[in-house]
Amino acid sequence: MSTEWLTPRSPLTGETTGTVPVTPPDAVAAVVAKSRAAFGDWGKLSHAERKPYLRAFAKQVLRSMDRIADVLVFETGKHRNDAHLELIGALTALDFFTRKAGELLRPRKAARWPFVITKGWTEYHPLGVAGIISPWNYPFYLPLMSAIQALSAGCTVVIKPSEITPLSGQLIQDIAEEAGMPANVVQVIHGGGDTGAALVNADTDIISFTGSTDAGKKVANAAAPMLKPVVLELSSSDAQIVLEDANIKDAAKAAVTFGCFNAGQMCVGVERVYVVDEVYDEFMAEAIKAIDRLSAGTGDKSDIGPMIWPGQADAIESHVRDAVSRGAHIVRGGNRIETDHGVYFEPTLMENVDHSMDLMRDETFGPIIPIMRVTDEAEALELANDTPYGLHGSVWTKNRSRGAAVAARMKTGTVAVNDHVINFVVPSIKFGGIGESGLNGQLGEEGIKAFTIHRSITVASFQPTTKLIRAWLPRTVRPGYWIGLARTLFSWRR
Ligand code: NAD
Repeated sequence: MSTEWLTPRSPLTGETTGTVPVTPPDAVAAVVAKSRAAFGDWGKLSHAERKPYLRAFAKQVLRSMDRIADVLVFETGKHRNDAHLELIGALTALDFFTRKAGELLRPRKAARWPFVITKGWTEYHPLGVAGIISPWNYPFYLPLMSAIQALSAGCTVVIKPSEITPLSGQLIQDIAEEAGMPANVVQVIHGGGDTGAALVNADTDIISFTGSTDAGKKVANAAAPMLKPVVLELSSSDAQIVLEDANIKDAAKAAVTFGCFNAGQMCVGVERVYVVDEVYDEFMAEAIKAIDRLSAGTGDKSDIGPMIWPGQADAIESHVRDAVSRGAHIVRGGNRIETDHGVYFEPTLMENVDHSMDLMRDETFGPIIPIMRVTDEAEALELANDTPYGLHGSVWTKNRSRGAAVAARMKTGTVAVNDHVINFVVPSIKFGGIGESGLNGQLGEEGIKAFTIHRSITVASFQPTTKLIRAWLPRTVRPGYWIGLARTLFSWRR
């Protein structure tokens, strides 16, 4: 059978520079088998023994920053600065999990209660082979972020990057090899959804999937009959709440920055803004000032790059049109820009929006900032939570304890007070969506532990507890004994 190839075309120039072979679905099992064989040694290493390999890997990423940025700029069209920022995210995760894995996965002692004579603890052992499936918007950071958690937990990884950005994903295997990682501990396979589906069905022990909610549900459905654990990071529609006591200039600049960052192709970007009536006009004036300084197009001065996947422009345009047909007003932008090689979308500010519009109900994934006037904090919260998604959100107020209290009532997995996006790149704290935005989550102690078997062990200190409490057969206690024991143990019941 002849080999199929993926030859990505740069959305910036229309050129092609590299190609990778597609891994047909029926070839995936053999790749996973190599990963399982490599797990035999990798999984047995102590954290201290694994650390030098991971450290070398991180160093090689650091040394290769320019080369990785070349590929990221080529494949996604993002600004070189943004490619470097993506790499800072990757290095932060690499550094954190390389240094902290031993500490995060230290056995956890159990409280000696109610049977004080039994000692207990939970140990965290590597699950085995982790299948990692990733999207095109952060094509180096996202697969690497999952991979470093899996690797530092002692798993081996098989990564299936997006078919739109395979060269960025391929670099992870190349760099791991250059850094001297043992053979087959890090492998990358290529192809579309069918290759991803084959990875889910193969002899993998866990799937870490980042992508759309639709594909994520297919992954969860395929994994369910095997009771295979899944980590799902999915679509979102993140809200920014601006209260009357906020620093309005900062809040408006953040709305524009994180609404337009990565040309809006960011799971944690600002997709909806709710501004309290009292400060709405001031906020709008600042947002207009901020957006007027941005431009879409090629060149070093441009802030908004092309759509990484050109089809995204259709989805964005349909949301804008739907909103306008229902009474929304375009304050700035609103148009797609076609060029010979790629599609761009103008940075767009919209008002008079409401929750009948797709723009406010579904993920837009473009540089569109819809702003809605609300009467107060309560209405802002109600509307922010009126969504099936729940990945990220932000609250803006100079009163930090008020901000934390509002954050605690947001129906999302992560919230930032007086910032946005930041949770995405802080590896020490859990990051993940709820509802239609995901399951289980990544980063922090919870993220690395997802790649482990939680094995709980009890050790009888003097004699078997079951013998001591007289549970052994043949029966030696009379009816009523257990009631007496319960009353003794649980004195609060008396
Ligand atoms: P996508 O779901 O189309 O594809 C993601 C990956 O899944 C690709 O590698 C694709 O080949 C693979 N895939 C598709 N169908 C599959 C199947 N049935 N089984 C296994 N694998 C399959 O997503 P996309 O368009 O590449 O990325 C954009 C989406 O990703 C947006 O919705 C965005 O919000 C989401 N995203 C979420 C996060 C997060 O952390 N929550 C981060 C980045 C992107």
